[in-house]
Amino acid sequence: MAPFRTSVAVGTALLCLATLQPCAPLHAQPADQWRGFPASPPPLPTLRPGEIQLRYLGNAGWEITDGRTVVLVDPFLTQFARWAENGPDATPDYGDLYPADTARINQYIGRADYIVITHGHSDHALDAGYIARRTGAVVLGHETAANLARAYGVPDSSLITVLGGEDYAFDDGISIRVVPNIHSALDDKRYFNNGRGIAGTAPRGLKAPLRRVDYQEGGNLAYIIRIGGHEVLAMGSMNYLEREMEGLRPDVALIGANSQRLEIFDYTGRLLRAMGYPPVVIPTHADGYGNPRPNAAALSDRDRFRAEVAAVSPNSRFIQPTWFEPIVLPARATLVAGGAAGGERRQINPPGISPLVPAYSVGMATGNDVFVSGMTGFKPGTQDIVEGGIAAQTRQTLENIRTTLEAAGATMADVVECTVFLRDMADYAAMNRVYLEFFPTDPPARATLAVSALPRPAALVEIKCSARRR
Ligand SMILES: [Zn+2]
Repeated sequence: MAPFRTSVAVGTALLCLATLQPCAPLHAQPADQWRGFPASPPPLPTLRPGEIQLRYLGNAGWEITDGRTVVLVDPFLTQFARWAENGPDATPDYGDLYPADTARINQYIGRADYIVITHGHSDHALDAGYIARRTGAVVLGHETAANLARAYGVPDSSLITVLGGEDYAFDDGISIRVVPNIHSALDDKRYFNNGRGIAGTAPRGLKAPLRRVDYQEGGNLAYIIRIGGHEVLAMGSMNYLEREMEGLRPDVALIGANSQRLEIFDYTGRLLRAMGYPPVVIPTHADGYGNPRPNAAALSDRDRFRAEVAAVSPNSRFIQPTWFEPIVLPARATLVAGGAAGGERRQINPPGISPLVPAYSVGMATGNDVFVSGMTGFKPGTQDIVEGGIAAQTRQTLENIRTTLEAAGATMADVVECTVFLRDMADYAAMNRVYLEFFPTDPPARATLAVSALPRPAALVEIKCSARRR
């Protein structure tokens, strides 16, 4: 199953960032962070119906296209300038002028129809004004994002100011839902201290070139971008409002993933659960601000985020993006079928658990619903019922159910109904004692029956259940 087509989009030459000379193969950078950068913007890709292409532009920046319309998220190509000649300290101080690196932008960015801005900080909003002016793209963002774009002469006809909560349909078939959001917890969770002085709003009347401190946050947004039949969540910070993410069902989630997320309680778990386990998860804002030589801590945190996603949502496909390398995704229905969410039927094959006969599946998932076949107390990896009578069998049965649910991205707390089959109703109380250990509060709806026989002669109990992932 390999629905992703990837290729390195380059112009006629691979140029190394540091020297702008053809890349020699002896660079020590990890391969995934040092590919050839395009010499000029690639043409719009030719995509099949339902496909979209994403290109990672660095920091929280993305180019998303269905081959016809191009949406940019927080383009910040200028970040690469800081590493070009003077090393990692080339970023201007907050009081200094911070001009957009227009040559670099022209090298990497071709067409743009929409630019969505999560917030006004320079690493999110710096390039948007110049790009909108050059391409005629419409800028969506808070008033601060609009004022920063106005500083570059972007006319009001190319600005859409939003507050959060809008869901705008556009003539070209795309729509953009604006998701209220909050900024990463900076300054050891004391954002009010904000030693940087960029927690406010940007006023009207600014004129480029702007100082770095002019790029005020101005509030925070995330976006659901519906394009080519997909729903792409784009975040620009390592924080979110859980209730605003609840019920969103992106098939592609660009999740703010640098170590600032560790300030937040169960950051990855709460987010992925709220969104119903997106089939494709791609970290964003976790590239060391363009540093081609990320330090060991950054690299290990990158692995840690991947592990967090795998633990919460094992069926999500995790893609570690590489700068400018196109990621082509198949139709949403294909992603959803192969992933954890959506409406397609999917067989669940939990580790160590197989059906007694090939007449049924251990589990099936459709959308967020998970159905677990009648389970007995056999030891995983075998078909042997455990020793120890009704209590031991009930415990093993429910452990097997738990394993099956987890393979489907669900938990015991998601179970909504069970049916318990007993060989002898005299075991009812003993079964219940163990059963309650697995459902200590709000137990699922249930029916219990005594039956004359079960397919496994040694089984005293069989339990089937249904769950709905939350
Ligand atoms: Zn910021």
